[in-house]
Amino acid sequence: MAKHIKSKMNIEICRLCKTNPADKKGSHIVPHFLLKRIENIEGKSGRDYELGFYIEEFDTKSHFGRALQQEKLEDIYGTLSEEEIEANKSNHPLIADNIFCSGCEKRLSIIESEYSKTLIEKGDGDKYKSGVSSEVGILFWMSVIWRMSINNKSGVQITKGEAEIARRILDRTLADSITNIDFENMQVSKDLKKIGYKILRCPGFSESSPTFLFFHPEFDKPYSLLIDEYILAFSFTNNYIHYNTRNFFGIREEILTSTTNQIGTEEEVGLLSEKLLKETGEGLIDKMKTIRAKNLDLFFNKIHVAIGGEGNYMPEKIKKEILSELTSNEKKLGRKYNLQDLRDSTIKILSKYGPIEE
Ligand SMILES: [Zn+2]
Repeated sequence: MAKHIKSKMNIEICRLCKTNPADKKGSHIVPHFLLKRIENIEGKSGRDYELGFYIEEFDTKSHFGRALQQEKLEDIYGTLSEEEIEANKSNHPLIADNIFCSGCEKRLSIIESEYSKTLIEKGDGDKYKSGVSSEVGILFWMSVIWRMSINNKSGVQITKGEAEIARRILDRTLADSITNIDFENMQVSKDLKKIGYKILRCPGFSESSPTFLFFHPEFDKPYSLLIDEYILAFSFTNNYIHYNTRNFFGIREEILTSTTNQIGTEEEVGLLSEKLLKETGEGLIDKMKTIRAKNLDLFFNKIHVAIGGEGNYMPEKIKKEILSELTSNEKKLGRKYNLQDLRDSTIKILSKYGPIEE
C-alpha cells in the first residue's frame, strides 16, 4: 500500500495540458504511421514488428518489437538472453511513458490520423497540394518537432520560448475530434502569424529504399528534420536564412524555392527526386561515419595515455587493428558498433600488446 501511494505521488504532470497526471504509457514521440515506415521489417506494418537502429556519435543502439520472429532476431543479434529481451522492452528511444495524459494522447492522435490521410497523394511536376489545410500541417508538424524536443533524445531542442508557444497552441487547439478543432480561431491567433514550414517529399521512396529519422543539430533557422521520405523545414519566426548559405546534405535550392505553408492556405508539398533523397541519406551516413571516426580517434588516444603508452597518440597500427576488429563481419549486426563492442574490441587488441587492467 505504501508503495502504491508513493508511485501515485511521483507521477508527472502531462507535458501538454499541464493539468492532468501523465498516466499514459507508450506514447509515440514520432507518429506511428511514419515511424513504422522507417523501422518496420519488410512487409509488416503493425506495431511490434519494428527493428530500429539508433546511431549516435559513439554508440549504436538497437531495439526490436515483441512480435519479431525468433529467426530474424537470431539473424541480427545471435543468441539473446532473457535479460536482454526484458531490457529491450523499455529500450525504444521514441516511445515514452508518463509524459502525457490519456486525453492529450488522444488529441495528438486525432491530428496524426488527419495528416496521415495525405500519404496517398503522389503529385507530379514540382509540387502538389496534399489535401489538408496548412493549419492541419502546422499542428501536425509542430507537434512532431515539439515532442522530439521535449523527449530530448534526438540531440536537438527548440528554445524554451518556442516550446512554450508550441505547447500553448497545441493545448489550446487540439480537440477530441477533428470537427471540434477551431481552425478559424487559429487564423486570428497572434502566436501563429510567424509560424510556417516548408515540406519536401519523394512519394513512394519509403517502399523501395531505407529511410531515416534525423533532426539536424546545425539548423534552427529553420529547424530541419529528415523523416522517412519527407524533409521538413519548420520555423517559429518565418526565418529560413540558414538555407542561404548551408545545405541539408545536398538539399538547398529545393527548400528555398518551395512554398512556405502558413495559416490560411492549403498545404503545398515540394517534390523531391529519388536520386536527391537517396543522396541525402548517403550524406547523412557519411557525416555520422566522420563524426564517429573522429571520436574513436580521440578515444583511442585517451586509452593509450591512460594505460601508460608512450607519447599522446596510440600508434596508427593498433588503431587500425581495433577498427578492423570493430567492423569484423563475424559479428552479428545487432551487436556491432555499440559501446560494449567498442570496449571488448579495444581490450581484445590491446591485450595482444601486453597485460592491461580493466
Ligand atoms: Zn494532458
